[in-house]
Amino acid sequence: MNEFDLIEKYFNWKNEDLSLLGVGDDCALISIDSQYQIATSVDTLIEGVHFPKNTSASDIAHKALAVNLSDLAAMGATPQYFTLALTLPEFDKNWLNDFSSSLKALADLHHVALVGGDTTKGMLSITINVTGIVDKGEALLRSSAQAGDTIFVSNALGDAGLAWQQIQQNIRPSESLLKSFNTPDPQIKLGHALLGVANACIDISDGLEQDLGHILKQSNLGARINLANIPLSDEVQAYIQESQDWCLVLAGGDDYQLCFTVAQNKIKQVEQLSQDLNVKLTPIGTITKEMGLERLGGFEKKCMSYRHF
Ligand SMILES: [Mg+2]
Repeated sequence: MNEFDLIEKYFNWKNEDLSLLGVGDDCALISIDSQYQIATSVDTLIEGVHFPKNTSASDIAHKALAVNLSDLAAMGATPQYFTLALTLPEFDKNWLNDFSSSLKALADLHHVALVGGDTTKGMLSITINVTGIVDKGEALLRSSAQAGDTIFVSNALGDAGLAWQQIQQNIRPSESLLKSFNTPDPQIKLGHALLGVANACIDISDGLEQDLGHILKQSNLGARINLANIPLSDEVQAYIQESQDWCLVLAGGDDYQLCFTVAQNKIKQVEQLSQDLNVKLTPIGTITKEMGLERLGGFEKKCMSYRHF
């Protein structure tokens, strides 16, 4: 099968949005409205670096799109379309079938259209460039936290980090940990609902401390967080109790939850949208005038967050 047949068979599905000209021309054409800003982000996943060698095609596809959608969620943007650059070691019909149907399922769930891409032969890697729209001037930024804001995180942290640690130790993680690690759920609805509510927002991809640190640095502020308030699953709670290794939660990464800051007069709105969206939103600390990130809870070790270089 040549490259063009491969694209036609596995990646040229019909898009709902007819204002898009997608796969099959030299470029995708997209109509935009001037009341919006385009939000765009690109991420690459490499076998052995971002996912273990035996990860299923279906999980790889989900994660590759999910981590990109998570960046849109962090800005409160609504996904519109994406392009895919796929490097494959060989042509494998079953692998491509699984990859393509999982990719399409997540794309359909978030109404995001595949509009183009590239395929090459080489070590397995997946690059996705996703684009969304957000009302002009409304996007959630890292730079606009205010002293006195309450810091919230969505759902629970540390599950993916614990799964990854167990995989490296040749322990098979529980289904629920594996699910967090392999098929993260990008918080698109939450990000959108936080427009006009949160002052600053980021998605937690490299670990809470490093990512919250980006908000602090860009807002020129500090924070105090209380470890006892960080939401944890039972499994991560048990792990912490036994090992006291808070770094797993603070620097484990791969959570793809949102960390955001909210002024005191909008806390009630956060509680309301937590109920409306049925997503757990937990206050874990406060933005402070004093620079630096202070932890309460008696764990003082410096954690090493994930860095690519
Ligand atoms: Mg991000």
